[in-house]
Amino acid sequence: MFSVAEAIQIVIQQSATLAHERVELPHARGRVLAQDVVADSDLPPFNRSQMDGYAVRADDVRYAPVRLRIVGESAAGRGWHNQLEEGQAVRIMTGAPVPAGADSVQQVELAHELKDRTVVELLESVEPGKAIVKRGAEIKAGEVVSNAGTTITPPIMAVLAAFGYATVDVFRRPRVGVLATGTELVSVDQKPGQDQIRDSNNYSISAYAELAGAVVERLPLTGDETSLLQRQIADAAERCDVIVTSGGVSMGVYDMTKSALKELAAEIFFERVALRPGKPTVFARLPNGALMFGLPGNPVSVSVTFNLFARTALLAMQGAAEPALKRETALLARELKGTTDRESYLPAQLTTNDDGQVVAFPLKWGGSSDFVAFAVATALIIVPAGVKSIKSGSLVSVVRLPN
Ligand code: AMP
Ligand code: MG
Repeated sequence: MFSVAEAIQIVIQQSATLAHERVELPHARGRVLAQDVVADSDLPPFNRSQMDGYAVRADDVRYAPVRLRIVGESAAGRGWHNQLEEGQAVRIMTGAPVPAGADSVQQVELAHELKDRTVVELLESVEPGKAIVKRGAEIKAGEVVSNAGTTITPPIMAVLAAFGYATVDVFRRPRVGVLATGTELVSVDQKPGQDQIRDSNNYSISAYAELAGAVVERLPLTGDETSLLQRQIADAAERCDVIVTSGGVSMGVYDMTKSALKELAAEIFFERVALRPGKPTVFARLPNGALMFGLPGNPVSVSVTFNLFARTALLAMQGAAEPALKRETALLARELKGTTDRESYLPAQLTTNDDGQVVAFPLKWGGSSDFVAFAVATALIIVPAGVKSIKSGSLVSVVRLPN
């Protein structure tokens, strides 16, 4: 049986990156860059004033208060493009170009204008360079500002816009088919009859898959019959890069997912992981190349195993530089019990304490079926295999749940 870390490595190895495509900038958020982003100009493109005030020569105002003649105005988008001489000042606005000859900007609060606004009295001296951002100080033309493999966040949207990327090269979104197995399942718009429950896994899986950048196709609910399941998986594999099923992977009489995969001659990479919850997770490839994750049916196991494994595959396929959930460290707020044979991923809420440390509060929950308790979890606390308990106040590894 593989450890979680080994299983994640296998997933990354088997998840080949998808083709590139060019998208228009407004549709690029959340996509993964397939190209480096290069600055096409210096930023700022000119010496830029950081505040409203007066562009001056620091030398002229060394013995303040001092009066200077106002010779012009430089506004954002409408600069004053002459040479500033000794004894002169130019009224300047935030974001405007600093005229040649000026070496500093004194802020408007430390000055007042006289004589019909032709003269300014500066009340204090200025340091040379004050309130000026030099041309190219933020970035120089030709420098790489974002690397391929970066997910496009809102601030990266601004970077792309600033450097003229009206379209951008990104990896194609994976197409994911979600398929819930179980004779007991009815859909959300139905009232469950005797012994039935509503399918909820397809909704968490779809939502997490969309957060991971996938396009989701919902497949019809499937019972626990191998041949039907087999047909639906084969059919979905025609259109999907990844199929995510839930249920039917344990050792019960009606757990048909693995037999369907075997009938389909799928290559099975793993069918058990040393993980709690989520031990019977299956990862396979169908003969046509589609990947398949067979997640356990319990809704909490679904959220844990989807994010550890299927999410990693979806991000790796999109070329993400760091496809797996990132481990962080937190202070444990309450004692926690583990199991000897498997690594545990236990639901928790993260907060910070008054010292600014991240604190993990384990949730009280009734096990892997208790998805109502799990619904308020923001993270999972990792308890290593073989650790029976961790004391309150210890440092623990956590992963944040995507949201
Ligand atoms: P299984 O892995 O098929 O044995 O299912 C384990 C548990 O998860 C059972 O109690 C199922 O009823 C429940 N379960 C399976 N699939 C779903 C689903 N799609 N939505 C909600 N619960 C499910
Ligand atoms: Mg089942």
